[in-house]
Parts: sequence; C-alpha cells; structure tokens
Amino acid sequence: IYGPKRRNSRGVNLNIRSHYYPLMEQMSAFMDKQYPAKPLLAFDVADDAANTHSVTSPYDRRNTVGSVQWTSKEQATKALDAAWAAFPRWDATPVAQRAAIVRRLGDLMEVHMPELMALCSREGGKLLTDGVDEIKEAVDFCRFYAMRAEEDFGEAIMLPGPTGESNRLMMGGKGVFAAISPWNFPVAIFCGQVVAAAVAGNTVLAKPAEQTSIVAHRVIELLYEAGMPRDVVQLLPGDGPTVGSVLTSDPRVTGVVFTGGTDTAQIINRALAARENAPLPTLIAETGGMNAMIVDSTALPEQVVVDVIQSAFQSAGQRCSALRVLYLQDDVADRVIEILKGAMNELRIGDPRDLGTDVGPVIDEDARKGLLEHIENLKAENRLIAETPMAAEHTQDGTFVAPVAFTIDSINALTREQFGPVLHIVRYKASELDKVINDINGRNYGLTFGVHSRNESFAAEIAQKMRVGNVYINRNIIGAVVGVQPFGGQGLSGTGPKAGGPHYLQRFVTEKTVTNNT
Ligand code: GLU
Repeated sequence: IYGPKRRNSRGVNLNIRSHYYPLMEQMSAFMDKQYPAKPLLAFDVADDAANTHSVTSPYDRRNTVGSVQWTSKEQATKALDAAWAAFPRWDATPVAQRAAIVRRLGDLMEVHMPELMALCSREGGKLLTDGVDEIKEAVDFCRFYAMRAEEDFGEAIMLPGPTGESNRLMMGGKGVFAAISPWNFPVAIFCGQVVAAAVAGNTVLAKPAEQTSIVAHRVIELLYEAGMPRDVVQLLPGDGPTVGSVLTSDPRVTGVVFTGGTDTAQIINRALAARENAPLPTLIAETGGMNAMIVDSTALPEQVVVDVIQSAFQSAGQRCSALRVLYLQDDVADRVIEILKGAMNELRIGDPRDLGTDVGPVIDEDARKGLLEHIENLKAENRLIAETPMAAEHTQDGTFVAPVAFTIDSINALTREQFGPVLHIVRYKASELDKVINDINGRNYGLTFGVHSRNESFAAEIAQKMRVGNVYINRNIIGAVVGVQPFGGQGLSGTGPKAGGPHYLQRFVTEKTVTNNT
C-alpha cells in the first residue's frame, strides 16, 4: 500500500524511494507488535500497574505501541547504588573490552534495523528515510567512539622524565554519568550519549524521553545482548521530575550528559550546583538553536529552495539544527519566495510509513498546541507567506502541523525556539549586512548557520564571523555526519564538546599523572 509517489512540478520531491521496499517488508513484522517496557536495572523490577503508562503513536493517537512502567524514586536510588558500586570494576576493565561491547551493539543495531525503524516511526512519528539515517547514525556513534576510546585511552601517555622520574598520564572514567536524552533522535542521540559515557569507563543511568522510552528499551536490551553488564548501564524510563531529581541531586552523580531544551539544561545546571559536599560536576549539554541562513544576491534560487525545504521541514522541523530564520537579500528574495511557495505546495503531509510522505507529525499534542499558538499569532499579524495544504483524511487522528512560512522583521521578533515546521523569512538590503550578523549573533544561540552565495570570499567572511558550532556553505544545515561534521553549539546552544567529534570523549574522563621515582 505504501508506494513512492512521483510528484513533482518543481523537482523538489523527486526522491525515488523504492529501494526502501525490502526494508518495509521486514518492518511490517513489527508494525502491530505491542511492547511492554519496564526499567532495566541491575536488579529485578516488580510489576507496577499503577505506574504503567500506555504509549500511543503521534500519527494516530488511537494506536498504542505498548506500555512503559516508570521508574520510582526508590528504584532510581537503588540503581544509583548499583552504578556507584560497579564503577571501580568497570573503570578497571580494559578499554579494548569495553570498546568491543560497544562495537557489538553497533552490529546488532544493524541486524535489528527494521525493528528499530518501525519503533522510531510508531513511537516518534519518524519518516522511513529519517529512520534509516537515525539507526545508521547510532551505529556510527558506536564504531566511532569505540575507535576513539581505544586510540586515546588504550595506553597511558608516557611523558618526558627530565628529573629522572618516569611520568605517565592515565585516563579513566569519572564515575556515574546520568544520560538524559531527547525524543527527536530516540536511537541516535540516546545511544551516542550512553556508549560515549560507558566506553570512557563510566557507569551510566540512562533516562530516555518520556515519549520514546520503548525504542530506548529495545536498544538497551541489545546492549545487554552485546555483553554490557547490567549494573554498568541501566535504563530509567519515567518522568523528568521524579527520575531527574534523583539523578541531579545525589552527590554520587559525577556527570550529566544532556540533550534537550535550553531551559531544562539550566534547571539541571542549577540542581547540580546546589548539591552540598558534591564534587564539581561535569555537564555536557546540547540544547536549542535559533538557526539562521543568509542568502545573498549571487545565490542560485533553485538550490536555495531545495536546501531551505530540507533544513526547515525535514523531520517536521524537529531538529535542533533546523532552519528557523531565513535572511534573503532583497534582489533575490522575490524569486526565492516564489519557488519556495511552489515547493511548499508540493510537500505531502501524512502517515510517516507512507513512502510518499514528506512531512510527518510533530511529537505530541503539547508540541502541536505550542506551535499552533505561534502560527495563529503570526497569521493574525498578516505575515503568512505560504502554508502546505493538509488533507484531513491523512492527518485527523495525529498531531500534525502543516509547514508554514512567515515574514518577520528580524530574528529579534522571535521570543523562543519554535521546534517544528515553521520558517521565518527576513528581507535585508546589502547595506544592512552588519546589522543582520549582529542580530543573529546577539541572540546568543549558536548551533547551526547556513550561507548561500557564489561569492566565495563573502561566504568565508560570514562563516568566520558567526558565533555558532556548525556552518554550512551552499547546502542544507541539517544531518551532521559522525566523525566528519562534529555537531554541537555554543552559548545558549550548549557547552560542547561536539558529538561525533575527536574531543567528545575527553569530557567523560579524568586524567591522572603517575610520577615514579625509580
Ligand atoms: N545532529 C542532528 C543534525 O545535524 C541534530 C541533532 C538534534 O536535533 O539534536 O541534524
């Protein structure tokens, strides 16, 4: 029933996706399965019906995916006891052994790709195309961090001994890490955090997003199958206040790796800082963005539109790398907007399991409400440029938001990050470029940024001036590749280090110098 649809008028949606057929065939076995998920802890967890929540699909709220038993405060504390006790043993485990487990997880995720993709789609509302990218990214994280751990921590670094002593620099885990992950990359980011912390020698308490705990549960089952001891990585599904407050208040938690909203990162930061007699913690936070793209008069409008559509609307705009504000130089603005309108008109909103769908649902009703409120406000100000038509029969039972583009005066008109398919367009004159750059930098977010220009020195100059983590020139601004485009921002967008980059693991370890006066 799900066939590729060749639509086309402007060449934007001409992906021929039929090579997904075999994968879809394999996925079908998991499309109706019901998953009962429970906390995966070092000890057995009793059934607790009163604390069990059913999970429904964002594209059809009448469909259930399964149920999740949430972790209680007591269980979270006991899990922390186990993680604390396991740390010295795990830290002393040779790096090669830790890396081998992580690599095996990568292999197993490849084998189980159809099931993981089915869950990404059913639980997270992901398109198949996004699902493939997601699982591949998770596999890449496993292989990349395993390789980096072996290279960087495999052996102590011998330092010069001018005083006649021998000096060795050794790297070890820091202790217990809490890994708090988002629903928008429920396999890739979840898995990246967990394996980075564990391969570096830490024990891990993983708290997945409430919306996507089932697929996280499946990944941890695979991690155990790969050989990970149960007290080294534990899964604590549940709501933020209950599980999060245990993880951020206990002095035994040495570090937190978090991806999600800037507000939540600030709450975590304050909670960690308020602990008494606790070691100064490590907080690795990857947060929101207010990502912009500048298009000058030399840019190719057709290419700009392809890249804008992907950057703003792929994954229904639910990427922290997604494009939120498009700055168009006056001379090229009308042409770009005309093509953009046509392209937005061609996008198809609907069931993510359908290969012809371009834009799936947003994650839940709260997300939809927040976005619609913003959209209604801008419509009331007569700022609408284009809106993708939404067919009621495809979308009535899910939480869908149609891609929409508005004009605004500057990035300063936005009060907060809109995490969905909403694009804001600003026209600027060449003489205003410095103000444009100052406005964007002045927001203090600094995640992704794009520039479209055929003037190379102009593009290079802008790239240099932007205070962001990832600059993309003449392409879209999403989909950073592990090991190739290390991902993460600065300012309100995060602490660094960059995920999938050569320095990421360094923040998960502690260094010890051993001087021996032999
Ligand atoms: N790494 C992803 C990308 O480049 C975004 C991650 C996120 O949304 O947190 O598109």
